[in-house]
Amino acid sequence: MKTRVFSGMQPSGNLHIGNYLGALKNWVRIQQDYDCIFCIVDLHAVTVYQDPAELRGKIAEIAGLYLAAGIDPGVSSIMVQSAVPAHAELAWMLTCVTPVGWLERMTQYKAKAAKQESTSDGLLQYPVLMAADIMLYQAGIVPVGEDQAQHLELTRDIAQRFNSLYGETFVVPGTSLPAVGARVMGLDDPTQKMSKSATGAGHAVALLDPPDKIRKTLMRATTDSNPAVDFATAGPGVMNLLTIYQAFSGTTDDQMKLQFTGLRYGDFKKQVAEMVIAHLEPFQQRYRQIISDPGYLAAVLREGAERVAPIANDTVRLVKERMGLYT
Ligand code: ATP
Ligand code: MG
Repeated sequence: MKTRVFSGMQPSGNLHIGNYLGALKNWVRIQQDYDCIFCIVDLHAVTVYQDPAELRGKIAEIAGLYLAAGIDPGVSSIMVQSAVPAHAELAWMLTCVTPVGWLERMTQYKAKAAKQESTSDGLLQYPVLMAADIMLYQAGIVPVGEDQAQHLELTRDIAQRFNSLYGETFVVPGTSLPAVGARVMGLDDPTQKMSKSATGAGHAVALLDPPDKIRKTLMRATTDSNPAVDFATAGPGVMNLLTIYQAFSGTTDDQMKLQFTGLRYGDFKKQVAEMVIAHLEPFQQRYRQIISDPGYLAAVLREGAERVAPIANDTVRLVKERMGLYT
């Protein structure tokens, strides 16, 4: 039996190249080797307010982007989190074995709460719901970007705590990060990770941005006071652009140095932009084709949910038994 893989994205904005290089690209690469479930985590998105009509649209858009990236629904299951009620059900049970202190320490919680006027309880509980998503399917591997590594450590802590309280029940999942592109930084501010929910015109390259906009955003990206690429002294902005180029192209470290050392920033950025556009243009064509058939998209999501729901329901039944809840 193949090891199960689970991962997801929030329909909370426009998917960007960080989401692609940190997660989606790797999902496509590993899907033949594992039993994969790729989720659109809408229950996570509503931990901060989302306009309902926009959220509905984003769910379909993300499904389309998964398919355009090369997730094969014949091989992997693509599903929406709220279509399988067991996610929320298991989350409650796990909430009851998770100390609040563990949640209050989470970096993402602190960063996102600082941006809110009033913080929802959901934002604090976010990592427990994420643990439920993963543990519900007994996933052994979770391919994510580096920003989610802390939540995965917490997932392991929750699984171990449950197992020690109620007996061996859950697989303790491992984290899988890409070698290059695990943490793509904001193009306007390379000290902050690129995020869907961040505002600011020059912050991110979205997967569906037209070539002109991609060129403009990358040409304006923050660099440093050097005139040209110097690997020894490059600041975080230049390192970020190098990472983006390397992750898209698959160029080796040695080749990167040969190709870019001494290149003036203007010329360097042009090369980065053309590399990104060369990858995103065919991707966008596939996306437009897929999204033009909403019936197909709906069927993929329905089949995905139907395929995974029995696994999820079995886990909830087992957890109820273990905890002594009414079954
Ligand atoms: P939000 O701001 O709404 O949290 P996000 O950009 O952080 O959006 P998520 O939906 O939270 O996106 O994360 C989806 C996946 O993308 C996760 O696996 C996450 O680790 C990965 N990811 C997010 N941002 C980056 C980034 N800047 N670089 C690499 N991977 C990233
Ligand atoms: Mg995020």
